[in-house]
Amino acid sequence: MSLNTQILIAAILGVAFGFLLNLFPATQFFDSSIYLLGIASSIFIGLLKMLLVPLIFSSIVVGVSNLQAGGQLSRTWKITLACCVTTTTLALILGLTCAHLFDVGKGVDIALFQDAMTNHQTPDTLTPSSFFTNFIQNTLINPFKAFAEGNVLAVVVFALFLGAALVKGGDKFKSIRVLSLQFFEVMMFLVSWVMKLAPIGIFALLAKLISTEDISILSRLAEFAAVVTGTTIFHGAVVLPLLLWVFGEMSPITFFKGARAALITAFATSSSSATMPLSMQCAQQNLGVRPQTAGFVIPLGTQLNMDGTALYEAAAALFIANLMGLDLSIAQQIIVCLTAMIASLGAPGIPSAGMVTMIMVLQSVGLPAEAIAILLPIDRLLDTVRTVVNVQGDMMISVVVDHHTKTLEKTSSYNS
Ligand code: ASP
Repeated sequence: MSLNTQILIAAILGVAFGFLLNLFPATQFFDSSIYLLGIASSIFIGLLKMLLVPLIFSSIVVGVSNLQAGGQLSRTWKITLACCVTTTTLALILGLTCAHLFDVGKGVDIALFQDAMTNHQTPDTLTPSSFFTNFIQNTLINPFKAFAEGNVLAVVVFALFLGAALVKGGDKFKSIRVLSLQFFEVMMFLVSWVMKLAPIGIFALLAKLISTEDISILSRLAEFAAVVTGTTIFHGAVVLPLLLWVFGEMSPITFFKGARAALITAFATSSSSATMPLSMQCAQQNLGVRPQTAGFVIPLGTQLNMDGTALYEAAAALFIANLMGLDLSIAQQIIVCLTAMIASLGAPGIPSAGMVTMIMVLQSVGLPAEAIAILLPIDRLLDTVRTVVNVQGDMMISVVVDHHTKTLEKTSSYNS
């Protein structure tokens, strides 16, 4: 049985086992199962996180130096940026439109949430300007500190500089380039080992999620949860595949088949960073993306491209405004979109990161930050689907970028 099929079966069994556990709460069986599931899921997530920083670092160094050496860096960079901005903008428009269409939050009694809001400790105020200052202060730092702390963004920036310098330096740095390439290859080798554990890890993660999260809590905010989840699924199942088909000339079926392992892992972990090693492997091995493109686009996309998060933040801001009985003007909605775009750029790919950056979106239009307390109880569940779309967007962009750079290369070699 292929690993992809094993992962799919493990996910289904994990969900079923989670529901089964729900039938035996507060029993010895429940406690020991949760303990064992906790160990299995921690091993899987731990191994993925262990590989994350060295993999991101080596893949960007290799990707950038290969692209720059072949004169494709600026082209790849521009197409990647254009794809990220386009897909995120579409996600934001979709989020706002659907929230309007279904009037999410209108007519819901805010008094129901008063307790949660008053007891909630809101983190420090997050304005766009303080967000930028923090962003710079946390990004341009000692790379060893960044490695040790797992500060992905800082590692990305250092790797971009190093990759570019290795090419500028030419033959003088040839051995470091070879070393980086071999280091990257050995990391990918380790990823293939960790992949073997994916079925067990995913089974454990999903069983634990279903048995410990209070799914009934979704019903309190049923309409909002249904609209956000439905819209996110629409973006992932219709908008992104359509763009992929038109601009990447790949059929959605081929894409979903090849990307399945990473998408299920994203669902189970709610972390695009933890899923990144698998996204990279799926892109290279199943979707035919060349290593230099995948090595550059996937780690960058993991950090910067989050369609699911942007869509969620825009819809949630409107939901909260409706709940408070406020009508956001068109200008305010544009501010929400711009801030949600910045917020999704800065959100790390970890569970519920979007909730923290959400504060900035709310405050940008004068909504109270405490209002995130309303959404927090259901966030872990909603996070599953938006993380899938975040990861899907990264892989899809890598296919489109690779397709375009290949075509442009062919055209320029034909012309010359
Ligand atoms: N969990 C998401 C991710 O890792 C981020 C978010 O909270 O929206 O991509």
